[in-house]
Amino acid sequence: MAEGSMVVSVEKVVNHLKDPRVKAAVKVKSEVLRIAENFLKNEGYIELLPTILSTVTDPLNHDVYEVMVNYNGLSYRLTQSMIFHKQLALLAFDKIFITSPNIRLETFDKSTSGRHLFEFVQIDLEAREATREDIMDLIERLFVEIFKGVRETCKEELEFLDVGPEMPQPPFKKVKYLDAVKEYGEKFEDKLSMDLDQPAWLIDIPILEREFYDKLSPDGETLLDMDLILPRGYGEVISGGEREYEYDSILRRMAIKGNDPEDFEWYLKIVKEYGIPPSAGCGFGVERLTRYICGLDHVKYTRLFPKVPGELWV
Ligand code: AMP
Ligand code: MG
Repeated sequence: MAEGSMVVSVEKVVNHLKDPRVKAAVKVKSEVLRIAENFLKNEGYIELLPTILSTVTDPLNHDVYEVMVNYNGLSYRLTQSMIFHKQLALLAFDKIFITSPNIRLETFDKSTSGRHLFEFVQIDLEAREATREDIMDLIERLFVEIFKGVRETCKEELEFLDVGPEMPQPPFKKVKYLDAVKEYGEKFEDKLSMDLDQPAWLIDIPILEREFYDKLSPDGETLLDMDLILPRGYGEVISGGEREYEYDSILRRMAIKGNDPEDFEWYLKIVKEYGIPPSAGCGFGVERLTRYICGLDHVKYTRLFPKVPGELWV
């Protein structure tokens, strides 16, 4: 724990609650949520409520501490994303989204990244038969709506924060992952972000760099997926892609990533016996997008009760 303290600093908590930056950013975030939810509903997306406990959750591509809840003889996890539930939800609806709280017990080295909380919210969406391009187009239109909207409804807050968020100008540039590695070398993602003055899509991510559920491209080496990278060092705000949906392909990909099929038992059983549809989707971090709009140096200012890795908060 930071500073070896095991006691929450109530002074820190109250100062945060009274911080005018926090008040402004939380208002902007509230508007981001309203605009995004309305936009998606107008596009025909049905809103689902979040699934918080599940025996199966996103294995993620980086280490986090595990949380298990034992109940009635079953070990539940806290959902780290709703990826598998999103795929299954498409058995009921063609397009769905969830404003989904995620618990990821990020390692303490993330405390100073400015981008990580161990409790955050992503707007997680998925569409049946959609392609990666459909989702990129949807998000580009959504970003324009959000920026237009907050400029109108959060004038006072943006003035106080002294930011005039630059309007996104679609279509965003697409940068192939391996080209970015070649151009920037180590920490390529941060360097790419520093170089940008508009958001850009990082596409065609190599197979071992992402989870097994993003669809393999016909080249057999990269995935039909994408991250959206924000300009000026703000970094990744979205990950998404087309999904694997065929039983044999999913098993092959699990083997390549070293995921144990036994850990995904009921998911695989549904895929094998009933089938799930082809789909594409993505999730965007509400706190990260708000941080960018507000020009803040840490996502913690976008929440009244932030959970910063390694720190004690309420
Ligand atoms: P992922 O699919 O793991 O890339 O997560 C989707 C999105 O959620 C990311 O692009 C971020 O915007 C957001 N996100 C992921 N992890 C965190 C975190 N620890 N703190 C804040 N936002 C996060
Ligand atoms: Mg990601």
